[in-house]
Amino acid sequence: MRQDARRLALLVVSCAVLFASFIQAQSKPAADLLITNARIWTVDKARPTAQAVAVLGDRIVAIGSNVDVEVWRGPKTRVIDARGQLLLPGFNDAHVHFVSGGQQLDNVQLNDAASKEEFARRVGERARIRPKGDWILGGDWDETKWNPATIPSKELIDPLTPETPVFVSRYDGHMVLANSAALRLAGITAQTPDPPGGLIVRDVQGNPTGALKDAAMDLAAKAIPPLSHDQRMHAAKRALAHAASLGVTSIQHMDPDYEDVAVYRELLQRGELTARIYAAPLITDVDDQVKIGIGHAFGSPFLRIGAVKAFADGSLGSRTAYFYEPYLDQQKSDQPNRGLLSDEMHPISLMRDRMLKADAAGLQICTHAIGDEGISTILDLYSDVIRADGEADRRFRIEHAQHMAAKDFDRFAQLHVIASVQPYHAIDDGRFAEGRIGHDRASRTYAFRTFRNHGVRLAFGTDWDVAPLDPLLTIYAAVTRATLDGKNPNGWFPEQKLTVAEAVEAYTMGSAFAEFQENEKGSISPGKLADMVLLSQDIFSIEPEEIRNTKVLKTFVGGKMIWDASPSALHN
Ligand SMILES: [Zn+2]
Repeated sequence: MRQDARRLALLVVSCAVLFASFIQAQSKPAADLLITNARIWTVDKARPTAQAVAVLGDRIVAIGSNVDVEVWRGPKTRVIDARGQLLLPGFNDAHVHFVSGGQQLDNVQLNDAASKEEFARRVGERARIRPKGDWILGGDWDETKWNPATIPSKELIDPLTPETPVFVSRYDGHMVLANSAALRLAGITAQTPDPPGGLIVRDVQGNPTGALKDAAMDLAAKAIPPLSHDQRMHAAKRALAHAASLGVTSIQHMDPDYEDVAVYRELLQRGELTARIYAAPLITDVDDQVKIGIGHAFGSPFLRIGAVKAFADGSLGSRTAYFYEPYLDQQKSDQPNRGLLSDEMHPISLMRDRMLKADAAGLQICTHAIGDEGISTILDLYSDVIRADGEADRRFRIEHAQHMAAKDFDRFAQLHVIASVQPYHAIDDGRFAEGRIGHDRASRTYAFRTFRNHGVRLAFGTDWDVAPLDPLLTIYAAVTRATLDGKNPNGWFPEQKLTVAEAVEAYTMGSAFAEFQENEKGSISPGKLADMVLLSQDIFSIEPEEIRNTKVLKTFVGGKMIWDASPSALHN
């Protein structure tokens, strides 16, 4: 009898278990999105490739073969047939100036204007479409492309821009053309003396022609008002749309204005933030974030703060990156130039104090350092912080990390510093770097392979608006190292080239790790945010030179398609 009772109980329990699993199978939620027939490179070492992915809400719930994900299909599931195209995790740009980038998209482009008439036409057109009173900026004009090659004067554009101030730069950044409206707002007249280090170009009567050289440019630049809230919002939206079209699903905004962060918050609340943002305000304002007590990477999947951005030195282009040895082309003067430490580094103890303060508050430190001694000095300071506060998962970063001293690769790795690098700069600076710093130092420039060999983690980015935001161009640069002047088709210091897989990893998992988000994004894995990008070519199998011609077909953020290049989508 007792035996029977037990048997009956067992039967009841087994039935209950069976029934429960039946119910579960029936009530398993259907996916919102299936992407099938894809060539998926997951950047997940546990499962590097797959054919299909299922998304529920904003997360990936399954990857595998078409058959594997089929069980997730429901009546309302949207199914996208990828037709064999390559699907990657969305790109995460670890170093951008996002709002300036958005502004730049609205600037007038004059560099390829082939005549002064074309120059005037473009400025006039821009004045017509921009709100009245908005300054027209940008330019990069180059009068050497005109016949005759004469410096433009304000008379050329004044009739087209009576109420629109214009301040457009020559491509070398050493001269601008300002129109009468701009000169008026800046108070520049025939009576204005030339400032030290600058020249107001004048006609035979002594009246300004509108051309302003070097320090004289600042006289007019001072009159340009700071961005209004509406202008900032407009720039952020332009930047977001541009990022979506390029497959950039996360960005790390270096030294934003606080007003930029406020605009992001507003966009987030309106459901219009289509890229995930991590903001790193200046370390000179470290007290603000310390007071709140938020620590690194605080916020939501779409908007985080909790990092600070510091500056160690300048740049190679302006010969202000800080080196142990002088610039080769400036070593023979009385005062050989080794570059400059930034004002934040005078004295160095001031920077150390700020870093200690940031670290004690749990903030992440990202430091711009380009020259070998600039980088080395920051590594010293990072060691000081570790010594003072003990070992911890801090993820110190050096932004750019361009020119390494041979002695510092090991230290870089030992301190677990992340190299946040921008490969496009390599194919740009590669045109002139050797002339400035010589072969030996150039061999440790943008040394991505050496970093990897030492176990240093790389995070990829662009420094947009200093360089283009396009991730395919960045991957092309890291893989080919072919300088923009065409002089190094097989690669400038080719031993530093990365493979496509390594470049993709740096742009996804590498950048996610650099913002403490490697468990949330960076790979196409179940449980992670569904940020993905579908490409027009398989960048793993095409010729490396072709990578830069690859287009982004679709971009997904949190499972939502935010960019679709297909003709049917463009018609809608
Ligand atoms: Zn930057």
